[in-house]
Amino acid sequence: MHQDIKKVLYTEEQIQNKIKELAAVLTEEYRGKNPIFVGVMKGVVLFFADMVKRIDTPCQIDFMWLSSYAGTGSTGNLIVKRDVSANLKGRHVVILEDIYDTGRSLTFVRDHLLSKEPASVKICTLLDKPEGRLPGITLEADYVGYEIPNEFVVGYGLDYNEYYRNLPYIGILKSEVYEK
Ligand code: 5GP
Ligand code: MG
Repeated sequence: MHQDIKKVLYTEEQIQNKIKELAAVLTEEYRGKNPIFVGVMKGVVLFFADMVKRIDTPCQIDFMWLSSYAGTGSTGNLIVKRDVSANLKGRHVVILEDIYDTGRSLTFVRDHLLSKEPASVKICTLLDKPEGRLPGITLEADYVGYEIPNEFVVGYGLDYNEYYRNLPYIGILKSEVYEK
């Protein structure tokens, strides 16, 4: 285990088993519907690749990149830095996310994709932190891998200062690391 990790929450094997379960559900739900899986970079890349490998019906993939800029207010606003390239009109869209926390980014992404007139938009997140939700956010994920407590996790795509994304497991970072 990496020296900066306090505790492993989910091992590589547990994550892969969970992905098999989620992908089996999505495969049945979207069989014959030609779904398009949309990933929001970059945290989702490991989960995204492992998920779509297990989808057993014809599908397509696409990616978006968000960016936040500090506006005149205290909170940064989200903007689309790189949009999906496919035409989503009439398509069944599944947003894949690494972690659902405050709900700001997924609400923004969902609204942005809905403006492209898809047939449907659903959300599948590997991790959900229900305690992190901002007041006023009503959106919930349709498919959730694990509900986790309100702790900062890294690994399996999730970063701290762009590090730890390469860890094959998900763990809680030692507090000394971000207090340094
Ligand atoms: P939100 O739901 O807060 O709008 O967006 C979730 C995003 O916040 C994730 O995509 C991720 O970048 C970041 N995030 C939230 N919680 C965590 C966490 O525990 N660890 C890491 N590494 N990123 C997190
Ligand atoms: Mg992210």
